[in-house]
Order: sequence, then C-alpha cells, then structure tokens
Amino acid sequence: MNISISDLKLKKNIKLSEKIAPAGFLQGEDNGITGDIAVELALSLSGDDIRADGKVSFTLGLECGRCLEPYILPVSEEINLRYKLSADGSVTEFDEFGSDTFNPEKNRSTGDFYIPLDALLRETVLLAMPMKHLCRLDCAGLCPACGKNLNAGSCGCGKDHPSNPFSKLNDLLNT
Ligand SMILES: [Zn+2]
Ligand SMILES: [Zn+2]
Repeated sequence: MNISISDLKLKKNIKLSEKIAPAGFLQGEDNGITGDIAVELALSLSGDDIRADGKVSFTLGLECGRCLEPYILPVSEEINLRYKLSADGSVTEFDEFGSDTFNPEKNRSTGDFYIPLDALLRETVLLAMPMKHLCRLDCAGLCPACGKNLNAGSCGCGKDHPSNPFSKLNDLLNT
C-alpha cells in the first residue's frame, strides 16, 4: 500500500480504511497478532503540507511472563505524521525532533514519488508492541514452591510470597 504523490496532488484528500493480514505484512515474525491489523488513515495535502492522521489497531494473544496464563491485549496506536512537499516532488518528514529528509520511493516506470505506507505502518505496529508480557501490571505470578497461580489466591504453602524471585527473572526475560 503506497500513496503516490501525484495521486495526492490530484485528490487532495485520501481516506484509507483497510484490514491487513499480519502474516505476510510483518514478514513471518510471530508477534502474537490474532486476526487482522485494522488501519484507518486520512491523508491530506494543503499547499505543500502533507498530513497523515489515523490509527492502527490489532489484538494480541499473549502468554503472561509471570503466571504463564494466556491473555488477550487490544492494542491501538495513533499515527500523526507531517511531511513537506518540495517542488521536485520529494518529501521531507517532520516529527517532534524536528525535520528529517525522508527519502520517498521513486517509481522507476512512472517517475512519480510515493510515500511507502507499508513500511510506515509496519514500524507503527512494531512500536506499539508491549515490552513486557504481563496479564496485568500487578500479576502475582506462580508460587516458586508449589507452582500455583497466586492471582487465584494464596497457595497454602504456609508462606506469603511478597517478592517472588521468579517474577523478576521473568520480567528480565520478557524485556
Ligand atoms: Zn499473569
Ligand atoms: Zn505455594
């Protein structure tokens, strides 16, 4: 999915509402995405300003790093990109860190520049991935002695487990 600059010049506004199958899109990596990646994006050209606003959303099926239970995590990440169009048809990207020359792809046969949306969406999806896999922030994890899931209550080993050493280890392994 790429947006041609000449197409945008012609239409001024392009709205996209797409569902993308993650398998081919993320190049075979198993990121735990279940179902499609939904993309809503509005591109507009005003003068030499290009705005791309929208969001990607998807659902992750993960296993908690502490209690090992499977859980579902809905993820949504906003897209707010700004570009400046130059006279030669090239594009400069602007972000919170200032401006950066963005190298838009040039189609060899048509000579037209285009915004490589697939690459931008892929980056957005990967940035939205959680660093840690926790079913909830205060997941109590498993009892190191008997293996019971402590989220369901104390295990009856006769001890409280205020700091489970394995939960810290699991956190490290999942970062
Ligand atoms: Zn958990
Ligand atoms: Zn126990």
